[in-house]
Amino acid sequence: MSKVHVIVAETRGGKLRQVTFEAVQAARQAGGDGDRLAAVLIGAGVGSLADELAGAGVDAVHVIDSPALELYNPEAYGAALNALLDRLRPDTVIFGHTAIGRDLAPAAAAHLQAGQISDVTAIERSGEDVLFTRPVYAGKAFEQKKRTGGGPLVVTVRPNNIAPAAADGAAGAAAVTAEAYDAPPSLRTVIKDVVRKMSGRVDLAEAKIVVSGGRGVKSADGFKPLEELAGVLNAAVGASRGACDAGYCDYALQIGQTGKVVTPEIYIACGISGAIQHLAGMSQSRIIIAINKDAEAPIFKVADYGIVGDLFDVVPLLTEEFRKALA
Ligand code: FAD
Repeated sequence: MSKVHVIVAETRGGKLRQVTFEAVQAARQAGGDGDRLAAVLIGAGVGSLADELAGAGVDAVHVIDSPALELYNPEAYGAALNALLDRLRPDTVIFGHTAIGRDLAPAAAAHLQAGQISDVTAIERSGEDVLFTRPVYAGKAFEQKKRTGGGPLVVTVRPNNIAPAAADGAAGAAAVTAEAYDAPPSLRTVIKDVVRKMSGRVDLAEAKIVVSGGRGVKSADGFKPLEELAGVLNAAVGASRGACDAGYCDYALQIGQTGKVVTPEIYIACGISGAIQHLAGMSQSRIIIAINKDAEAPIFKVADYGIVGDLFDVVPLLTEEFRKALA
């Protein structure tokens, strides 16, 4: 019998986040031939994104669009999603491993009495088995979990790991359904406003290139050369906890065990020693470039390319060269 795999779409700034398309691909990999993919779009004024999602090859898009869902609220979004999941009776529910996905997924798993596998970086089939790969011990090892039993499964996928489904298909291919939102009688939490600490052009979690600064930048002003390099490379700026603790930047930039986990194509670590807690957030980056004046700094052990030197000399030179090369 064909099964239904649900993708919970995520938007930001009126656009679908890339991790949504990665979740579509993950659903495809988790499902079998003839299974159906259903995407869920929740928010206010999100209906116009349904066609783009339909073009990614899903069979159905369910839109729960209400002014009451303008700002993410776990109770409201949870109620909206769970009511739909009760009807769709999914085999798998897939979220991005983002702040919202990490918040909503366990609630959905509890509601469905489902198992959950979080922070998945790859999905593959081995005969009849579906195997989910995820990092453990702060990225020092990987485990593979095999799906067993007949119940539903909730999965979160780490951004930038699974190739996104192309969104170039025919928009008319999927059935788009507007779903009613039945607000819970009362909400214990009311979200009045969301204050974004950083208004960087590039979303750190989904950035292809990250330029990161550590305590070696020495001051808030010390981030300026890094921001300039990031501007030329269309990169996001990140930081070590050392830099955040020193007050050089906001904690919203922190990468690591207790910060954000990033998996860009290129990670440029400037004045970062490479403590294990920092590596937990970036060691899966495809190419790591380290700039440090201490040739013995542990970051060089994980770096693909290392530059031993003063970041205040090296970063402006790199910026200049990249600017010329990209012009
Ligand atoms: P430092 O270790 O002080 O390193 C600065 C580096 O800059 C040095 O290697 C130095 O040689 C180099 N340098 C100095 N000046 C220059 C220059 N002009 N040019 C080039 N290089 C220069 N850390 C995180 O990053 N993320 C986390 O999520 C995190 N979570 C933690 C959780 C726990 C429970 C604990 C205990 C710690 C955590 N830490 C985390 C902190 C971590 O252990 C380190 O203290 C921190 O990563 C160090 O930051 P840093 O590399 O910027 O600073």
